[in-house]
Amino acid sequence: MRFSLVSMRFAVAAGLMTGVALLAMWATTPPPERVTLPILDDVTLAASCRDALRAAREQVIKLEQVPLEKVSPETILEQWDRDQIALENVTGPVSILNNVHPDQRVRDAADRCTLAISSFSNELFQNEKLFERIRAVVPMTPAQKQFRKDLLDAFEDSGVSLPKGKRERARVINDRLTELSQEFERNIRDNPAKVTFTPTETRGLPASWLARVPKDAKGNSVVGFDYPDYLPFMANAEDEAARRRYYAANTNRGTPRNLALLDEIVGLRRELAGLYEEPSFAHHVTKRRMVENPETVLKFLDDVRAAVTSAEKKDLDDLRSVKAEMTSRPIASVKIERWDISFYTERLRERRYQVDQEELRKYFPTEKTIAWVLGINEHLYGVRFERAAVPVWQEDVRYFDVRDTRSGRFIGGFYLDLFPREGKFKHAAAWPVRGVSRKSGRNPISVLVTNLDRKGFTQPELETFFHEFGHTLHGVLSETTYNQHAGTSVQRDFVEAPSQIHEEWARRIESLRTIRDACPECPPIDLALVERLDAARRFGQGIQYARQLLYSDFDMALAGSSPRDAMSAWKTLEAATPLGYVPDTAFPGTFAHIAGAYAAGYYGYMWAEVLALDMLSAYGGDIMDPTVGERYRKMILARGGEEPARELVEKFLGRPVRSDAFFAEITGRKRAAGGAR
Ligand SMILES: [Zn+2]
Repeated sequence: MRFSLVSMRFAVAAGLMTGVALLAMWATTPPPERVTLPILDDVTLAASCRDALRAAREQVIKLEQVPLEKVSPETILEQWDRDQIALENVTGPVSILNNVHPDQRVRDAADRCTLAISSFSNELFQNEKLFERIRAVVPMTPAQKQFRKDLLDAFEDSGVSLPKGKRERARVINDRLTELSQEFERNIRDNPAKVTFTPTETRGLPASWLARVPKDAKGNSVVGFDYPDYLPFMANAEDEAARRRYYAANTNRGTPRNLALLDEIVGLRRELAGLYEEPSFAHHVTKRRMVENPETVLKFLDDVRAAVTSAEKKDLDDLRSVKAEMTSRPIASVKIERWDISFYTERLRERRYQVDQEELRKYFPTEKTIAWVLGINEHLYGVRFERAAVPVWQEDVRYFDVRDTRSGRFIGGFYLDLFPREGKFKHAAAWPVRGVSRKSGRNPISVLVTNLDRKGFTQPELETFFHEFGHTLHGVLSETTYNQHAGTSVQRDFVEAPSQIHEEWARRIESLRTIRDACPECPPIDLALVERLDAARRFGQGIQYARQLLYSDFDMALAGSSPRDAMSAWKTLEAATPLGYVPDTAFPGTFAHIAGAYAAGYYGYMWAEVLALDMLSAYGGDIMDPTVGERYRKMILARGGEEPARELVEKFLGRPVRSDAFFAEITGRKRAAGGAR
């Protein structure tokens, strides 16, 4: 079955159907009506889960019994599509409630359901009778050919061709891996740890932050690790020791338990690769990706290293000068520490570019900015978002219908769950809870989850919101024939491209100046301000991408042929960077990406950014051009995983992929926008 792909922001044959065939299909399938997510309690969730699994097992028996001479795309692939959809009706809601439901009992019931489904799935893909039937299908269309290939790959990867003993071991390992990554995430999500800061330690923080965070009886600020608490603190708290303390606590959110979990995960993945006689887990997974093998990843990371090493050094030198000046110390005696990066970067941006991220919240008040972001996407893609009152899991959550503007056709819907609360997922991500299938007349639904500040956006927060909305639309605007290929069901190292491309709308004058349409009382945004914002944003790219490189190196090391324990691998790698390893920190225990689906895949953020920035060039100097938006919707978003990603991108661009825009971006150089900015 298609696994719901959670796409996070970092710490993600031509003419298959002619226009006529497409119209004909919509004409024969009645227009779908709105379907919303069931808001299950723990008891109904457990019952739905049991019923869905029972039904799925019955369907497996029916598929097993299809006589080989009756095997066809209709009897096997299209039946598979319907069965997959029936199961997704439960797994979709469960995957999101697992991360956002305010009641811990529901989140725990969702954990149990996810385990049961995952176990079923591991069994399913080891079923020889089904494997035999899928192999026997003769596909009639390119989509069916891709569908058949995807399934056969999934069977191979689950061990169907292994000898019996190894196959059984593969199943046990896969079940256990699901359990371990769940616990890893739960330890972060449900961690109640708080950090207390005295009024002296919170000097420099914006008044709105101080007014909002809870206080203890002595008037100290008591904070957890939600972004609106942590990020402004690291950017603004003048007290270095306080920043150091919060930094270290933040890296220890998951430890020591998560370090042990990660080691077990890494060991099991290594063993799994061994069952297939593959040299490493990285070999096991990259063969299904754009890169095809780990060597391509390592070569790409080396190219990134060659580009960012000197850019990082220059950025750090600039920060040292600011720190020396602000602390009135000779520069030779000043060292930049990890907990200084955000703080002195902001000071440098204020001094050199007159950009104050906290001040920017006035330009981007939360509610009006959300309306504006939605409006930009409506304009670009020719769609309408209509808010509707439907049942939700928490009162702040909102829902929108999505319609095609020209035809008025109902497309699907999305939910926005925007603000932090106890027990909620702490990062930003999109859940494609219901995937499209034109064959089955199924409308898609996605859920966007963020942890926004209610006062307004900084520029990085705005980029994050655009980014996640990109994932959301990838799910909602896909029009694939089968659920298998819906939206974000693409190769893992492509999935971040349709989200990263959207970050640009938080950067350019053509889009930014239109905020006044949504917020006439907001301060105006002119070209001079946008130029300063862009210059400020480009400062520090060397540091930021060097960090992304470190995460990717670490991920590849754990997925390599002889991984060490996570903590010592991390210490060695971090110690080799200009800032060194920080004693008493344990970042690996918080790195949920690689405990889960981004394993041997973290490089994908940068890999996909090459594609994103290259696709952006299609807009030239006007990212508000809806003719390009419509083409992008049809050629990329609508197509989901129906074709390999590289083919989709190169058809959209009309040429092979180029990486120059990416390398300009990561070294802080101004990118050619293909026209005036
Ligand atoms: Zn993402």
